[in-house]
Amino acid sequence: MLGLMQSQQLLISTLIDFAERHHGEGEVVSRRVEGDIHRTTYKEIAVRARKVAHALDGLNLAFSDRVATLAWNGYRHLELYFGVSGSGRVLHTLNPRLHPDQIAWIANHAEDQVLCFDMTFLPIIKAVYSRCTTVKHWIALCDADKLPADTGIPGLQSYEAWMGKQPEQYTWPEFDENSASSMCYTSGTTGNPKAALYSHRSTILHAFSGALPDALNMSARDSVLPVVPMFHVNAWGLPYSAAMTGAKLVFPGPAMDGKSIFELIESEKVSFAAGVPTVWQMMLAHMQSANLKFSTLKRTVIGGSACPPAMITAFNDVYGVEVLHAWGMTEMSPLGTVCTLKNKHLPLSPEDKMKVRLKQGRGIYGVDMKIVDDAGKELPWDGKAYGDLLVKGPWIISEYFKGEGGSPLVDGWFPTGDVATIDPDGYMQITDRSKDVIKSGGEWISSIDVENIAMAHPAVAMAACIGMKHPKWDERPIIAVVKKPGSEVSREELLAFYEGKTAKWQVPDDVVFVDAIPLGGTGKMQKSKLRELLKDYRLPSL
Ligand code: AMP
Repeated sequence: MLGLMQSQQLLISTLIDFAERHHGEGEVVSRRVEGDIHRTTYKEIAVRARKVAHALDGLNLAFSDRVATLAWNGYRHLELYFGVSGSGRVLHTLNPRLHPDQIAWIANHAEDQVLCFDMTFLPIIKAVYSRCTTVKHWIALCDADKLPADTGIPGLQSYEAWMGKQPEQYTWPEFDENSASSMCYTSGTTGNPKAALYSHRSTILHAFSGALPDALNMSARDSVLPVVPMFHVNAWGLPYSAAMTGAKLVFPGPAMDGKSIFELIESEKVSFAAGVPTVWQMMLAHMQSANLKFSTLKRTVIGGSACPPAMITAFNDVYGVEVLHAWGMTEMSPLGTVCTLKNKHLPLSPEDKMKVRLKQGRGIYGVDMKIVDDAGKELPWDGKAYGDLLVKGPWIISEYFKGEGGSPLVDGWFPTGDVATIDPDGYMQITDRSKDVIKSGGEWISSIDVENIAMAHPAVAMAACIGMKHPKWDERPIIAVVKKPGSEVSREELLAFYEGKTAKWQVPDDVVFVDAIPLGGTGKMQKSKLRELLKDYRLPSL
Protein backbone atom coordinates (compact mmCIF):
# COMPACT_ATOMS: atom_id res chain seq x y z
CA MET A 1 0.00 0.00 0.00
CA LEU A 2 1.38 3.39 -0.95
CA GLY A 3 1.08 6.42 1.29
CA LEU A 4 -1.53 8.93 0.30
CA MET A 5 0.64 11.99 0.30
CA GLN A 6 1.11 14.38 -2.60
CA SER A 7 4.03 13.50 -4.76
CA GLN A 8 6.31 16.43 -5.39
CA GLN A 9 9.84 16.14 -6.69
CA LEU A 10 12.54 17.65 -4.47
CA LEU A 11 13.84 20.29 -6.88
CA ILE A 12 16.20 23.21 -6.25
CA SER A 13 13.71 25.60 -7.87
CA THR A 14 11.39 24.98 -4.89
CA LEU A 15 13.97 26.54 -2.58
CA ILE A 16 14.04 29.90 -4.33
CA ASP A 17 10.25 29.82 -4.83
CA PHE A 18 9.90 29.29 -1.08
CA ALA A 19 12.39 32.02 -0.19
CA GLU A 20 10.62 34.48 -2.51
CA ARG A 21 7.15 33.74 -1.17
CA HIS A 22 7.93 33.44 2.54
CA HIS A 23 11.05 35.55 2.93
CA GLY A 24 10.80 37.90 -0.04
CA GLU A 25 12.28 40.77 1.95
CA GLY A 26 15.09 38.58 3.31
CA GLU A 27 18.36 40.30 2.54
CA VAL A 28 21.26 39.16 0.38
CA VAL A 29 24.27 41.43 0.83
CA SER A 30 27.44 41.13 -1.25
CA ARG A 31 30.82 42.78 -1.32
CA ARG A 32 31.34 43.02 -5.04
CA VAL A 33 34.38 42.67 -7.24
CA GLU A 34 33.71 46.33 -8.02
CA GLY A 35 34.52 47.01 -4.34
CA ASP A 36 31.14 48.34 -3.20
CA ILE A 37 28.52 46.67 -1.00
CA HIS A 38 25.49 45.51 -2.97
CA ARG A 39 22.10 44.88 -1.31
CA THR A 40 19.26 42.82 -2.68
CA THR A 41 16.47 40.49 -1.47
CA TYR A 42 15.33 36.91 -2.02
CA LYS A 43 12.44 38.36 -4.07
CA GLU A 44 14.88 40.08 -6.43
CA ILE A 45 17.20 37.03 -6.55
CA ALA A 46 14.21 34.88 -7.52
CA VAL A 47 13.22 37.26 -10.31
CA ARG A 48 16.75 37.39 -11.67
CA ALA A 49 17.20 33.59 -11.36
CA ARG A 50 14.15 33.24 -13.61
CA LYS A 51 15.71 35.69 -16.05
CA VAL A 52 18.84 33.52 -16.06
CA ALA A 53 16.66 30.50 -16.87
CA HIS A 54 15.15 32.37 -19.83
CA ALA A 55 18.56 33.48 -21.01
CA LEU A 56 19.83 29.87 -20.88
CA ASP A 57 16.79 28.70 -22.84
CA GLY A 58 17.71 31.38 -25.37
CA LEU A 59 21.11 29.70 -25.84
CA ASN A 60 19.31 26.49 -26.74
CA LEU A 61 20.95 24.54 -23.95
CA ALA A 62 19.69 21.02 -23.49
CA PHE A 63 18.55 19.47 -20.20
CA SER A 64 21.64 18.57 -18.09
CA ASP A 65 24.01 20.74 -20.18
CA ARG A 66 26.78 22.14 -18.00
CA VAL A 67 26.97 25.84 -17.19
CA ALA A 68 30.25 26.70 -15.49
CA THR A 69 31.05 29.51 -13.09
CA LEU A 70 34.40 30.96 -12.13
CA ALA A 71 33.23 33.33 -9.45
CA TRP A 72 33.49 34.59 -5.90
CA ASN A 73 30.66 34.45 -3.39
CA GLY A 74 28.10 37.02 -4.47
CA TYR A 75 24.50 37.64 -5.52
CA ARG A 76 25.07 36.97 -9.22
CA HIS A 77 26.62 33.62 -8.38
CA LEU A 78 23.56 32.89 -6.20
CA GLU A 79 21.23 33.73 -9.09
CA LEU A 80 23.15 31.24 -11.23
CA TYR A 81 22.87 28.60 -8.47
CA PHE A 82 19.08 28.75 -8.78
CA GLY A 83 18.67 29.75 -12.44
CA VAL A 84 21.00 27.09 -13.84
CA SER A 85 19.87 24.13 -11.71
CA GLY A 86 16.24 25.28 -11.55
CA SER A 87 15.99 25.25 -15.35
CA GLY A 88 17.37 21.70 -15.50
CA ARG A 89 20.98 22.49 -16.37
CA VAL A 90 23.98 21.49 -14.28
CA LEU A 91 25.87 24.19 -12.41
CA HIS A 92 29.59 23.48 -12.62
CA THR A 93 31.55 25.57 -10.14
CA LEU A 94 35.16 25.86 -11.33
CA ASN A 95 37.89 26.54 -8.80
CA PRO A 96 39.84 29.68 -9.80
CA ARG A 97 42.72 28.69 -7.51
CA LEU A 98 43.73 25.93 -9.89
CA HIS A 99 46.36 26.38 -12.58
CA PRO A 100 44.83 27.51 -15.91
CA ASP A 101 45.90 24.19 -17.47
CA GLN A 102 43.84 22.33 -14.87
CA ILE A 103 40.88 24.68 -15.37
CA ALA A 104 40.94 24.11 -19.13
CA TRP A 105 41.23 20.34 -18.63
CA ILE A 106 38.29 20.31 -16.18
CA ALA A 107 36.06 22.53 -18.38
CA ASN A 108 36.68 20.18 -21.31
CA HIS A 109 36.09 17.07 -19.23
CA ALA A 110 32.80 18.50 -17.92
CA GLU A 111 31.90 19.59 -21.48
CA ASP A 112 30.87 23.00 -20.22
CA GLN A 113 28.74 24.90 -22.73
CA VAL A 114 28.65 28.27 -21.00
CA LEU A 115 31.23 29.85 -18.71
CA CYS A 116 30.24 32.77 -16.44
CA PHE A 117 33.14 34.53 -14.71
CA ASP A 118 33.89 37.41 -12.40
CA MET A 119 36.03 40.12 -13.99
CA THR A 120 38.80 39.32 -11.49
CA PHE A 121 39.31 36.12 -13.44
CA LEU A 122 39.51 37.68 -16.91
CA PRO A 123 43.27 36.90 -17.07
CA ILE A 124 42.51 33.19 -16.46
CA ILE A 125 39.81 33.23 -19.12
CA LYS A 126 42.18 34.89 -21.57
CA ALA A 127 44.70 32.12 -20.86
CA VAL A 128 42.23 29.26 -21.35
CA TYR A 129 39.44 30.29 -23.72
CA SER A 130 41.07 28.96 -26.88
CA ARG A 131 41.59 25.57 -25.20
CA CYS A 132 38.04 25.22 -23.79
CA THR A 133 36.71 23.50 -26.85
CA THR A 134 33.15 22.87 -25.67
CA VAL A 135 32.39 26.36 -24.30
CA LYS A 136 30.23 28.27 -26.78
CA HIS A 137 29.20 31.22 -24.63
CA TRP A 138 31.34 33.45 -22.39
CA ILE A 139 29.52 35.64 -19.87
CA ALA A 140 31.30 38.25 -17.72
CA LEU A 141 29.51 38.79 -14.40
CA CYS A 142 29.34 42.58 -14.68
CA ASP A 143 27.33 45.51 -16.04
CA ALA A 144 27.44 46.13 -19.78
CA ASP A 145 29.54 49.28 -19.38
CA LYS A 146 32.19 47.40 -17.34
CA LEU A 147 33.02 45.06 -20.21
CA PRO A 148 36.36 45.94 -21.83
CA ALA A 149 36.12 46.22 -25.62
CA ASP A 150 39.27 44.35 -26.55
CA THR A 151 39.29 41.09 -24.58
CA GLY A 152 39.74 38.91 -27.65
CA ILE A 153 37.23 36.41 -26.23
CA PRO A 154 34.76 35.61 -28.99
CA GLY A 155 31.16 36.68 -28.33
CA LEU A 156 31.85 37.78 -24.76
CA GLN A 157 28.76 39.36 -23.20
CA SER A 158 28.10 41.03 -19.89
CA TYR A 159 25.79 39.14 -17.54
CA GLU A 160 23.51 42.13 -17.11
CA ALA A 161 23.08 42.61 -20.87
CA TRP A 162 22.60 38.86 -21.34
CA MET A 163 19.91 38.26 -18.72
CA GLY A 164 18.73 41.76 -17.76
CA LYS A 165 15.99 42.19 -20.37
CA GLN A 166 14.53 38.68 -20.06
CA PRO A 167 10.94 38.26 -18.78
CA GLU A 168 10.46 38.11 -15.00
CA GLN A 169 8.05 35.18 -15.10
CA TYR A 170 9.15 31.63 -15.85
CA THR A 171 7.64 28.27 -15.12
CA TRP A 172 10.31 26.08 -13.60
CA PRO A 173 10.32 22.68 -15.32
CA GLU A 174 9.27 19.62 -13.31
CA PHE A 175 11.53 16.62 -13.66
CA ASP A 176 12.92 13.66 -11.75
CA GLU A 177 14.51 14.78 -8.48
CA ASN A 178 17.39 12.39 -9.14
CA SER A 179 18.49 14.53 -12.11
CA ALA A 180 21.92 16.13 -11.84
CA SER A 181 21.89 19.67 -10.44
CA SER A 182 25.52 20.67 -9.93
CA MET A 183 29.05 19.38 -10.02
CA CYS A 184 32.35 19.99 -8.33
CA TYR A 185 35.77 18.53 -9.16
CA THR A 186 37.97 17.20 -6.45
CA SER A 187 41.69 17.06 -7.11
CA GLY A 188 42.19 13.94 -5.00
CA THR A 189 45.57 12.35 -4.84
CA THR A 190 46.32 10.65 -8.09
CA GLY A 191 45.69 11.20 -11.74
CA ASN A 192 43.30 13.74 -13.13
CA PRO A 193 40.60 15.46 -11.05
CA LYS A 194 37.28 13.67 -10.69
CA ALA A 195 33.83 15.22 -10.36
CA ALA A 196 31.15 14.70 -7.77
CA LEU A 197 27.80 15.10 -9.52
CA TYR A 198 25.08 16.20 -7.10
CA SER A 199 21.37 15.71 -7.72
CA HIS A 200 18.38 17.89 -6.84
CA ARG A 201 17.28 15.31 -4.31
CA SER A 202 20.70 14.99 -2.67
CA THR A 203 21.07 18.77 -2.51
CA ILE A 204 17.69 19.32 -0.85
CA LEU A 205 18.13 16.48 1.65
CA HIS A 206 21.60 17.79 2.50
CA ALA A 207 20.20 21.31 2.97
CA PHE A 208 17.47 19.95 5.29
CA SER A 209 19.86 17.99 7.45
CA GLY A 210 22.55 20.68 7.41
CA ALA A 211 20.10 23.25 8.77
CA LEU A 212 19.06 21.14 11.79
CA PRO A 213 19.79 22.44 15.32
CA ASP A 214 22.53 19.88 15.99
CA ALA A 215 24.09 20.60 12.61
CA LEU A 216 24.41 24.26 11.54
CA ASN A 217 21.26 25.38 13.37
CA MET A 218 20.07 27.83 10.72
CA SER A 219 16.94 29.95 10.99
CA ALA A 220 15.19 33.05 9.67
CA ARG A 221 16.77 34.96 12.57
CA ASP A 222 20.29 34.28 11.32
CA SER A 223 22.58 36.46 9.27
CA VAL A 224 24.90 33.97 7.59
CA LEU A 225 28.36 34.67 6.19
CA PRO A 226 29.67 31.85 4.00
CA VAL A 227 33.37 32.63 3.73
CA VAL A 228 33.77 29.11 2.40
CA PRO A 229 33.69 29.61 -1.37
CA MET A 230 30.70 28.91 -3.56
CA PHE A 231 33.22 27.32 -5.97
CA HIS A 232 34.10 24.63 -3.42
CA VAL A 233 31.34 22.08 -2.69
CA ASN A 234 28.55 24.67 -3.00
CA ALA A 235 29.80 26.65 0.02
CA TRP A 236 28.94 23.64 2.20
CA GLY A 237 25.31 23.88 1.01
CA LEU A 238 24.75 27.18 2.82
CA PRO A 239 23.08 28.98 -0.10
CA TYR A 240 20.47 26.21 -0.19
CA SER A 241 19.97 25.96 3.59
CA ALA A 242 19.68 29.75 3.77
CA ALA A 243 16.94 29.83 1.13
CA MET A 244 15.21 26.96 2.92
CA THR A 245 15.18 28.82 6.25
CA GLY A 246 15.00 32.43 5.06
CA ALA A 247 18.31 33.33 6.70
CA LYS A 248 19.96 36.56 5.56
CA LEU A 249 22.99 35.87 3.35
CA VAL A 250 26.16 37.94 3.45
CA PHE A 251 28.78 37.32 0.75
CA PRO A 252 32.41 38.43 1.10
CA GLY A 253 33.26 38.56 -2.64
CA PRO A 254 37.00 38.58 -3.24
CA ALA A 255 37.94 40.27 0.08
CA MET A 256 39.01 37.39 2.35
CA ASP A 257 41.46 39.33 4.52
CA GLY A 258 40.82 39.54 8.26
CA LYS A 259 39.91 43.22 8.26
CA SER A 260 37.32 42.97 5.46
CA ILE A 261 35.71 39.86 6.94
CA PHE A 262 35.53 41.40 10.42
CA GLU A 263 34.00 44.61 9.05
CA LEU A 264 31.36 42.65 7.15
CA ILE A 265 30.48 40.60 10.25
CA GLU A 266 29.93 43.79 12.21
CA SER A 267 28.18 45.90 9.57
CA GLU A 268 25.78 43.10 8.54
CA LYS A 269 25.17 41.83 12.08
CA VAL A 270 26.36 38.35 11.12
CA SER A 271 25.30 35.70 13.66
CA PHE A 272 26.78 32.65 11.95
CA ALA A 273 29.88 32.33 9.76
CA ALA A 274 31.50 29.40 7.97
CA GLY A 275 35.07 28.94 6.83
CA VAL A 276 38.32 27.00 6.87
CA PRO A 277 40.81 27.52 9.74
CA THR A 278 43.16 29.67 7.59
CA VAL A 279 40.52 32.36 7.10
CA TRP A 280 39.73 32.55 10.81
CA GLN A 281 43.40 32.64 11.66
CA MET A 282 43.77 35.81 9.59
CA MET A 283 40.67 37.37 11.14
CA LEU A 284 41.63 36.52 14.73
CA ALA A 285 45.12 37.98 14.16
CA HIS A 286 43.55 41.21 12.89
CA MET A 287 41.13 41.37 15.82
CA GLN A 288 43.89 40.77 18.32
CA SER A 289 46.18 43.44 16.89
CA ALA A 290 43.38 46.01 16.69
CA ASN A 291 41.82 44.93 20.02
CA LEU A 292 38.39 44.27 18.51
CA LYS A 293 35.38 42.30 19.76
CA PHE A 294 32.32 40.91 17.98
CA SER A 295 28.93 42.37 18.75
CA THR A 296 26.64 39.87 16.96
CA LEU A 297 28.56 36.70 15.96
CA LYS A 298 27.26 33.69 17.93
CA ARG A 299 28.72 30.66 16.21
CA THR A 300 31.07 29.62 13.47
CA VAL A 301 31.43 26.34 11.67
CA ILE A 302 35.03 25.41 10.94
CA GLY A 303 36.05 22.54 8.70
CA GLY A 304 38.00 21.57 5.62
CA SER A 305 40.97 20.71 7.79
CA ALA A 306 41.36 20.09 11.49
CA CYS A 307 40.52 23.10 13.64
CA PRO A 308 43.44 23.87 15.99
CA PRO A 309 42.53 23.84 19.73
CA ALA A 310 43.86 27.39 20.17
CA MET A 311 41.30 28.61 17.66
CA ILE A 312 38.39 26.96 19.47
CA THR A 313 39.62 28.48 22.74
CA ALA A 314 40.11 31.95 21.24
CA PHE A 315 36.65 32.01 19.70
CA ASN A 316 34.99 30.60 22.80
CA ASP A 317 36.87 32.18 25.71
CA VAL A 318 37.99 35.51 24.27
CA TYR A 319 35.17 36.33 21.87
CA GLY A 320 32.19 34.32 23.21
CA VAL A 321 31.63 32.53 19.89
CA GLU A 322 30.72 28.85 19.73
CA VAL A 323 32.87 26.81 17.34
CA LEU A 324 31.19 23.97 15.47
CA HIS A 325 33.97 21.71 14.26
CA ALA A 326 32.74 19.96 11.12
CA TRP A 327 34.05 17.38 8.71
CA GLY A 328 33.08 16.43 5.20
CA MET A 329 34.26 16.02 1.65
CA THR A 330 33.45 17.11 -1.89
CA GLU A 331 32.15 13.57 -2.39
CA MET A 332 29.74 14.10 0.54
CA SER A 333 28.11 17.38 -0.57
CA PRO A 334 30.05 17.99 1.88
CA LEU A 335 28.57 17.65 5.38
CA GLY A 336 29.31 14.45 7.27
CA THR A 337 29.77 15.33 10.92
CA VAL A 338 29.30 18.40 13.09
CA CYS A 339 30.53 18.67 16.65
CA THR A 340 27.77 19.76 19.00
CA LEU A 341 27.55 18.67 22.62
CA LYS A 342 25.01 16.28 24.13
CA ASN A 343 23.16 17.00 27.37
CA LYS A 344 25.55 14.76 29.29
CA HIS A 345 28.49 17.01 28.33
CA LEU A 346 27.01 20.22 29.68
CA PRO A 347 28.17 19.76 33.32
CA LEU A 348 31.74 18.88 32.21
CA SER A 349 34.68 21.11 33.07
CA PRO A 350 35.86 23.47 30.29
CA GLU A 351 38.88 21.17 29.70
CA ASP A 352 36.71 18.09 29.27
CA LYS A 353 34.26 19.94 27.03
CA MET A 354 37.22 20.99 24.93
CA LYS A 355 38.22 17.34 24.47
CA VAL A 356 34.80 16.74 22.89
CA ARG A 357 34.81 19.93 20.82
CA LEU A 358 38.16 19.03 19.26
CA LYS A 359 36.63 15.99 17.62
CA GLN A 360 35.15 16.31 14.15
CA GLY A 361 31.74 15.49 15.61
CA ARG A 362 28.71 13.27 15.27
CA GLY A 363 27.27 12.10 11.97
CA ILE A 364 24.31 14.25 10.98
CA TYR A 365 21.06 12.52 10.06
CA GLY A 366 21.53 10.86 6.67
CA VAL A 367 25.22 10.04 7.10
CA ASP A 368 26.15 6.60 8.38
CA MET A 369 29.78 5.95 9.33
CA LYS A 370 32.00 3.03 10.18
CA ILE A 371 35.69 2.43 10.73
CA VAL A 372 37.38 -0.71 9.48
CA ASP A 373 40.78 -2.37 9.78
CA ASP A 374 43.03 -3.35 6.86
CA ALA A 375 40.99 -6.50 6.32
CA GLY A 376 37.75 -4.50 6.10
CA LYS A 377 36.53 -5.72 9.52
CA GLU A 378 34.46 -3.18 11.40
CA LEU A 379 36.18 -1.69 14.45
CA PRO A 380 34.47 -0.78 17.74
CA TRP A 381 33.23 2.70 18.60
CA ASP A 382 35.44 2.97 21.68
CA GLY A 383 37.29 6.19 20.88
CA LYS A 384 40.57 4.24 20.74
CA ALA A 385 40.53 1.88 17.77
CA TYR A 386 41.34 3.71 14.57
CA GLY A 387 40.79 2.61 11.03
CA ASP A 388 39.69 3.65 7.56
CA LEU A 389 36.55 5.76 7.72
CA LEU A 390 33.72 4.73 5.40
CA VAL A 391 30.42 6.53 4.91
CA LYS A 392 27.08 6.02 3.21
CA GLY A 393 24.01 8.13 2.68
CA PRO A 394 21.78 9.87 0.13
CA TRP A 395 24.19 12.81 -0.48
CA ILE A 396 27.34 10.72 -0.79
CA ILE A 397 28.58 9.81 -4.27
CA SER A 398 27.89 6.41 -5.76
CA GLU A 399 30.42 7.01 -8.52
CA TYR A 400 32.34 9.86 -10.14
CA PHE A 401 31.18 11.73 -13.24
CA LYS A 402 31.73 9.61 -16.39
CA GLY A 403 32.60 6.66 -14.15
CA GLU A 404 36.18 7.97 -13.72
CA GLY A 405 38.30 5.71 -11.55
CA GLY A 406 35.76 2.87 -11.56
CA SER A 407 33.38 2.19 -8.71
CA PRO A 408 34.64 3.92 -5.56
CA LEU A 409 32.33 1.96 -3.24
CA VAL A 410 33.25 -0.99 -1.03
CA ASP A 411 30.13 -3.06 -0.27
CA GLY A 412 28.02 0.07 -0.74
CA TRP A 413 30.21 2.26 1.49
CA PHE A 414 32.36 5.16 0.31
CA PRO A 415 35.95 5.03 1.64
CA THR A 416 36.82 8.59 2.65
CA GLY A 417 40.59 8.17 2.62
CA ASP A 418 40.63 9.43 6.21
CA VAL A 419 41.65 7.44 9.24
CA ALA A 420 39.54 8.00 12.34
CA THR A 421 38.30 6.89 15.74
CA ILE A 422 34.65 6.91 16.80
CA ASP A 423 33.77 7.09 20.51
CA PRO A 424 30.81 5.40 22.23
CA ASP A 425 28.76 8.60 21.87
CA GLY A 426 29.33 8.55 18.10
CA TYR A 427 31.89 11.38 17.98
CA MET A 428 34.34 10.83 15.14
CA GLN A 429 37.90 12.11 15.26
CA ILE A 430 40.25 12.16 12.28
CA THR A 431 43.66 10.85 13.27
CA ASP A 432 45.35 10.93 9.92
CA ARG A 433 44.85 10.86 6.19
CA SER A 434 45.50 7.61 4.49
CA LYS A 435 46.69 9.58 1.49
CA ASP A 436 49.42 12.14 1.59
CA VAL A 437 47.75 15.05 -0.06
CA ILE A 438 48.64 18.43 1.46
CA LYS A 439 46.05 20.96 2.63
CA SER A 440 47.16 24.57 2.17
CA GLY A 441 44.78 27.44 2.88
CA GLY A 442 41.78 25.12 2.59
CA GLU A 443 42.85 23.79 -0.81
CA TRP A 444 44.45 20.51 -1.82
CA ILE A 445 47.98 20.20 -3.09
CA SER A 446 48.64 16.82 -4.58
CA SER A 447 52.00 15.61 -3.31
CA ILE A 448 52.29 13.44 -6.39
CA ASP A 449 51.91 16.42 -8.72
CA VAL A 450 54.64 18.28 -6.83
CA GLU A 451 56.90 15.24 -6.96
CA ASN A 452 56.29 14.65 -10.63
CA ILE A 453 57.56 18.12 -11.53
CA ALA A 454 60.72 17.69 -9.45
CA MET A 455 61.33 14.28 -10.95
CA ALA A 456 61.16 15.85 -14.40
CA HIS A 457 64.36 17.78 -13.59
CA PRO A 458 67.38 16.09 -15.14
CA ALA A 459 69.42 16.16 -11.90
CA VAL A 460 66.72 14.57 -9.70
CA ALA A 461 66.71 10.85 -8.99
CA MET A 462 63.84 10.71 -6.55
CA ALA A 463 61.55 13.21 -4.88
CA ALA A 464 59.03 12.98 -2.06
CA CYS A 465 56.68 15.79 -1.13
CA ILE A 466 55.31 16.12 2.37
CA GLY A 467 53.30 18.78 4.17
CA MET A 468 54.86 20.77 6.98
CA LYS A 469 52.68 22.44 9.61
CA HIS A 470 52.26 26.14 8.96
CA PRO A 471 50.47 28.52 11.34
CA LYS A 472 48.73 30.47 8.56
CA TRP A 473 48.23 27.99 5.73
CA ASP A 474 47.74 24.87 7.86
CA GLU A 475 50.35 23.01 5.82
CA ARG A 476 52.93 23.95 3.19
CA PRO A 477 54.66 21.44 0.92
CA ILE A 478 58.37 20.79 0.95
CA ILE A 479 60.19 18.44 -1.35
CA ALA A 480 62.85 15.99 -0.29
CA VAL A 481 65.17 15.25 -3.17
CA VAL A 482 67.80 12.65 -3.96
CA LYS A 483 70.20 13.94 -6.62
CA LYS A 484 71.36 11.70 -9.45
CA PRO A 485 74.97 10.62 -8.87
CA GLY A 486 77.33 13.15 -10.42
CA SER A 487 74.54 15.68 -11.06
CA GLU A 488 74.14 19.05 -9.43
CA VAL A 489 71.09 21.23 -8.83
CA SER A 490 70.62 23.94 -6.24
CA ARG A 491 67.55 24.65 -4.11
CA GLU A 492 66.90 27.86 -6.08
CA GLU A 493 67.27 26.18 -9.47
CA LEU A 494 64.80 23.48 -8.51
CA LEU A 495 62.22 25.95 -7.15
CA ALA A 496 62.59 28.03 -10.34
CA PHE A 497 61.91 24.83 -12.29
CA TYR A 498 58.31 24.89 -10.98
CA GLU A 499 57.57 28.26 -12.59
CA GLY A 500 54.78 27.99 -15.15
CA LYS A 501 54.27 24.28 -14.43
CA THR A 502 51.84 24.62 -11.56
CA ALA A 503 49.94 27.30 -9.64
CA LYS A 504 52.28 29.48 -7.52
CA TRP A 505 50.76 28.34 -4.20
CA GLN A 506 51.39 24.73 -5.15
CA VAL A 507 55.15 25.30 -5.49
CA PRO A 508 56.96 23.80 -2.48
CA ASP A 509 58.31 26.21 0.14
CA ASP A 510 61.65 24.46 0.36
CA VAL A 511 63.91 21.73 -1.03
CA VAL A 512 65.70 19.38 1.33
CA PHE A 513 68.47 17.29 -0.17
CA VAL A 514 68.68 13.79 1.31
CA ASP A 515 70.84 10.73 0.62
CA ALA A 516 67.86 8.39 0.28
CA ILE A 517 64.08 8.33 0.64
CA PRO A 518 62.83 5.48 2.83
CA LEU A 519 61.10 2.78 0.78
CA GLY A 520 58.69 0.07 1.91
CA GLY A 521 58.64 -3.60 1.00
CA THR A 522 56.86 -3.08 -2.31
CA GLY A 523 59.06 -0.15 -3.34
CA LYS A 524 56.59 2.51 -2.23
CA MET A 525 57.90 5.66 -0.53
CA GLN A 526 57.34 5.61 3.20
CA LYS A 527 56.42 9.16 3.96
CA SER A 528 55.80 8.48 7.63
CA LYS A 529 59.47 7.51 7.95
CA LEU A 530 60.51 10.58 5.98
CA ARG A 531 58.48 12.79 8.33
CA GLU A 532 60.25 11.14 11.24
CA LEU A 533 63.65 11.89 9.66
CA LEU A 534 62.64 15.52 9.17
CA LYS A 535 61.01 15.97 12.56
CA ASP A 536 63.38 18.81 13.52
CA TYR A 537 63.02 20.57 10.18
CA ARG A 538 61.61 24.13 10.17
CA LEU A 539 60.11 25.90 7.16
CA PRO A 540 62.30 28.83 5.99
CA SER A 541 59.42 31.27 6.49
CA LEU A 542 58.95 30.37 10.18
P1 AMP B 1 37.57 18.29 0.22
O1 AMP B 1 36.97 17.23 -0.62
O2 AMP B 1 38.50 19.18 -0.52
O3 AMP B 1 36.52 19.07 0.91
O4 AMP B 1 38.47 17.61 1.33
C1 AMP B 1 37.97 16.60 2.16
C2 AMP B 1 39.02 16.18 3.14
O5 AMP B 1 39.42 17.27 3.95
C3 AMP B 1 38.58 15.12 4.10
O6 AMP B 1 38.63 13.83 3.55
C4 AMP B 1 39.57 15.31 5.24
O7 AMP B 1 40.81 14.67 4.97
C5 AMP B 1 39.79 16.79 5.23
N1 AMP B 1 38.94 17.44 6.25
C6 AMP B 1 37.77 18.07 6.08
N2 AMP B 1 37.31 18.55 7.24
C7 AMP B 1 38.21 18.21 8.19
C8 AMP B 1 38.31 18.41 9.60
N3 AMP B 1 37.39 19.08 10.29
N4 AMP B 1 39.38 17.90 10.23
C9 AMP B 1 40.34 17.22 9.56
N5 AMP B 1 40.31 17.01 8.24
C10 AMP B 1 39.26 17.49 7.55
